[in-house]
Amino acid sequence: MELFNSKTPIELFLNRNLERSIKAGHPWVYADSIEAGQSPKGNLAILKAKNGKTIAKGIYDRESPLAFRVCVVGNDPLDDHWVKGNLEKAFSRRSHILNVHTNACRLIFGEGDNLPGLVCDIYGDVLVFQLDGAGPAGFWNVKNITLWFSQKMPVKTAYLKYRSDQKKAGEILLGDKALSKVLFQENGVKFKADIINGQKTGFFLDQRENRLRIKSLSNNKTVLNLFGYTGGFAVYAGVGKARHVTSVDISKSATMESHQNWLLNDLRDDLHLPVTANAFDFLAQACQEKKKWDMVVADPPSFASSSKNVEKAKHSYINLFASAAKVLNKRGILAASSCSSHINSQLFHQLCEEAISKANRRGTVLGFFNQPEDHPYPLACQELRYLKFLLIMVD
Ligand code: SAH
Repeated sequence: MELFNSKTPIELFLNRNLERSIKAGHPWVYADSIEAGQSPKGNLAILKAKNGKTIAKGIYDRESPLAFRVCVVGNDPLDDHWVKGNLEKAFSRRSHILNVHTNACRLIFGEGDNLPGLVCDIYGDVLVFQLDGAGPAGFWNVKNITLWFSQKMPVKTAYLKYRSDQKKAGEILLGDKALSKVLFQENGVKFKADIINGQKTGFFLDQRENRLRIKSLSNNKTVLNLFGYTGGFAVYAGVGKARHVTSVDISKSATMESHQNWLLNDLRDDLHLPVTANAFDFLAQACQEKKKWDMVVADPPSFASSSKNVEKAKHSYINLFASAAKVLNKRGILAASSCSSHINSQLFHQLCEEAISKANRRGTVLGFFNQPEDHPYPLACQELRYLKFLLIMVD
């Protein structure tokens, strides 16, 4: 069973000495570190030093700045046995996450599972794949990886979701189940995800543990969930016995789905208010009307999608968290989050500090969290530690 499309490898030469960083586990080589003028076609490549020594074998994309992704270091074999070994390790590392209360998680997180550019999530019996760019798309054989998973767990349907810049949304790899409302459970909380039209693979699985934190803090509180998407944090707050929850999202369909997910958990209809609005406008108006909540969750989309717009993004985060702090009751809790890898943890902490000070309030940090263990990253590649979640009690 071929788990990757093994064609004859092409040879690439490094123009600088990256052996140490590759040996330490850094999984990427950028195009400018590869001999200029070299641009052979092919997805499987052997990366060599100037003197001809083999440094690594991996996935090549001649069109991308992120040109080479390391699969194996040195002369280790790159074969199906290697893929199976990594699939097995990735799967067994998640075995305790999947149980009677949780049947959705990220099964493969690319570089963090030593399977570069390959992402696979499970929702009940539905597998959803995503491939990070043309190199990984040409390399991985997701149909056969689906078959590998089918031997481990009851998989009925598998879908490959294309990147949003493609004409088609994706392709079915297995089964014929309708994918617009896939039911799953996370920590005993029920949700439906739209795999085809939803964001990411349908749900933000990386906030699973942070949602539990919100649940445990919600008892008898009024909660405002900004950028609420399909209600992840809102429903957990409801299950955690929040007095009332308001969800705000700019997307009408997401707002409607948040309320459907609320009702799916037998929560009282009148205790959730879904609002379709721009979160910044909503906060400005709420501030004017002197509205207050006991807890505000602010988990926006990435404001810094590339390193070029970090400066602008910094202002957006500060403005957002300052406005959120202004609508908090005394000793209210702000849950501030960012999924941008270009804003590191230290910078994020600093932005929150500036935001609270801008709102003329003082904060106490109750906890600072990152992504959960089904989203691992190589120790040598902090760029892949992307999720920040800071719980601040505001005086
Ligand atoms: N917190 C969510 C995930 C948020 S994803 C969860 O846990 O599931 C980001 C969401 O922000 C998307 O649903 C998007 O529609 C919404 N969004 C983007 N810009 C917005 C804006 N200016 N105001 C309100 N919502 C916005």
